[in-house]
Amino acid sequence: MPHVARTHAVVIGAGMAGLTAAQALSKHFGKVTVIERDVLPAEPAPRSGTPQAQHAHMLLAGGLKALQTLFSGFEYDLAEADAVKIRTGKDIRMERPDSIHSPSVILVSTSSACRAPCSRPLLGGA
Ligand SMILES: Cc1cc2nc3c(=O)[nH]c(=O)nc-3n(C[C@H](O)[C@H](O)[C@H](O)COP(=O)(O)OP(=O)(O)OC[C@H]3O[C@@H](n4cnc5c(N)ncnc54)[C@H](O)[C@@H]3O)c2cc1C
Repeated sequence: MPHVARTHAVVIGAGMAGLTAAQALSKHFGKVTVIERDVLPAEPAPRSGTPQAQHAHMLLAGGLKALQTLFSGFEYDLAEADAVKIRTGKDIRMERPDSIHSPSVILVSTSSACRAPCSRPLLGGA
């Protein structure tokens, strides 16, 4: 394979995928440019390019671990931004009217893995 000079990487989209890809690429390229069609707000806030951001988001333990590997102090930043830490299966209950396990309610897994419920803009901003 011919040698390719790793001078400049371009990432399209400043969503979670784009931001994490840009961070990973920054260790291997001299310059990383992220092209985003939205004007990014100074503070975490919904924007048209990520309509799902209107919903609360949960970050599973594996995702949190991965993000902490990429962004040092990520969990601390989430806590500073008031993301709520919960224990799966202990602090939340999922209700599904179509569940075959009970008439209307099932408990989520009894795993003690932690999640950080917060807004999608907050995740991106952290
Ligand atoms: C209702 C709902 C609830 C959800 N809840 C959870 C949850 O609890 N936990 C969880 O982990 N996930 C959840 N998800 C999924 C999660 O929101 C998405 O998987 C994640 O945001 C996708 O990130 P992404 O970076 O791939 O794409 P996006 O977040 O869609 O980002 C794409 C980016 O690219 C930009 N873009 C698009 N086209 C162009 C272009 N041509 N030029 C420049 N920029 C462009 C957009 O503006 C945007 O910034 C939920 C999704 C929905 C809809």
